[in-house]
Amino acid sequence: MKFEDLNLLKNIQQALADEGYENPTPIQEQAIPVILEENDLVGCAQTGTGKTAAFAIPMLNILHRIVGSAKKRKLIRALVVTPTRELALQVGESFDTYGKYTNIRQVTIFGGVNQTPQVDQLKKGVDILIATPGRLLDLHKQGFVDLDHLHFLVLDEADQMLDMGFINDVKKIIKLTPDNRQTLLFSATMPLPIRELADTFLTNPKYVSVTPISSTAEKVKQQLYLVDKADKRKLLYHLIRNENLKNVLVFTRTKHGADNVVKALKKNGVEAGAIHGDKSQSARQRMLDAFKNKEISVLVATDIAARGIDIESLPYVVNFDLPNIPETYVHRIGRTGRAGNSGLAISFCGRDELPYLKDIEKLIRMKLKVMEEHPYPFAEQDKENKPEGQKPDLRNKNKNARSGKSKPGGKSNSRKSEASKKKKKRWY
Ligand code: AMP
Repeated sequence: MKFEDLNLLKNIQQALADEGYENPTPIQEQAIPVILEENDLVGCAQTGTGKTAAFAIPMLNILHRIVGSAKKRKLIRALVVTPTRELALQVGESFDTYGKYTNIRQVTIFGGVNQTPQVDQLKKGVDILIATPGRLLDLHKQGFVDLDHLHFLVLDEADQMLDMGFINDVKKIIKLTPDNRQTLLFSATMPLPIRELADTFLTNPKYVSVTPISSTAEKVKQQLYLVDKADKRKLLYHLIRNENLKNVLVFTRTKHGADNVVKALKKNGVEAGAIHGDKSQSARQRMLDAFKNKEISVLVATDIAARGIDIESLPYVVNFDLPNIPETYVHRIGRTGRAGNSGLAISFCGRDELPYLKDIEKLIRMKLKVMEEHPYPFAEQDKENKPEGQKPDLRNKNKNARSGKSKPGGKSNSRKSEASKKKKKRWY
């Protein structure tokens, strides 16, 4: 199927052609006709499947007919609610891209930044509002957002909104919108509360779904490194240098962990940056731009911060820590190997993470390929008896250095450290 077969307006088709899109992706093929026929829709699809365009394209098509050439005052006709600021911005960019030959105006609002510029934008008039739940409710309460004229309500990444505790906010938002709206709900997974949300707030929705989550993993090349926690940063650096990895998205479980990985890489001359919830929105955006523009070659992110990041043709994803929720593994690796590009997902698994590995392999119904040949396999119990210098164990040294316990009785250790220092770069 081609985009021409979908009965889209010429100015939208032109914008798609400018982007080099020829054929709709499976979710687009299924969702676009359903939305054009003004049905409610539940779409089961994850990031990377083209789901944003699956709703943005038909929405623009309908909105252009409603408001396209009108000179009258702009009213909010579509609201897209997203769990994160990053996803909100990305959705906004998509509307701008696909709607560039229309005069439909979108505004994106999210928390964590001064509200004044957003309010100024709203006052100028807007057709499509993209918002995270908290800021939306806040600005609505202050009287800056009028949802009475909505045609479309889109709930994007609904399962993530549930995970992030936004479900009650979402319900409040739905109640602020007109009953005769057209509602579209997208979610990568369909846990019970999301199905209930769909049953309660959508009217005779059509269901469309692409590639069940567990089978996405089969398309990406995956490698597993069994490595002790203390050696993970060394192994990451080793792989980046030896395999000449560039454009690497690294996932850590914690914000602190993300910062530590960045620190260690930078000390060894690798340009890296972190995005996580403790960083300001502008710092996160700067870092993301630097990664997209290839000014930094490694971006380290926590799952929540990474949600919604869309970087075309991302070649490498590294699971520095294995996630304890197996679906998260599939979300993460789904960021590589998109749209027919080849991708490699590398996972580090410490001893304490072996149970997580078991859950992941159960979900994806395959065993990950174990990479045997690397310099940091699981430490043996009798490591202390190994000949000195063969594989210096820097962990004790670092522990002592951090706790300031170099003496007493630390002499032999510190001598060993000195020797190690000469042989190897220092790791923190
Ligand atoms: P999404 O699933 O919305 O995050 O989109 C994933 C990526 O696929 C984005 O970079 C889009 O620009 C790209 N994309 C979406 N639809 C198409 C299409 N029909 N052909 C080629 N690329 C597409």
